[in-house]
Amino acid sequence: MSHTPDIPEQYVCKGCQAIYAGTVLKRGDTHHFEAPAECSACGSTAFVPLEQYIHEAGQSA
Ligand SMILES: [Zn+2]
Repeated sequence: MSHTPDIPEQYVCKGCQAIYAGTVLKRGDTHHFEAPAECSACGSTAFVPLEQYIHEAGQSA
C-alpha cells in the first residue's frame, strides 16, 4: 500500500489500544508525524504506528 502523506500517521497505545492521530512536525517543506507523549486515557507512553500494530497483530494471530 502506498504512503499517503496527506493523511496523518496514526499511533496505537500499547496500554489500552486507543488510536491517536500523530502530531504534525514541520521542517521546511517537509513534515512528519510523531506519536503523542502520553495516552490521555491510561497514561501509557508506549505507542506503535498503526501499520506496525496491525502487522504485529497479524503475526501473533
Ligand atoms: Zn492508553
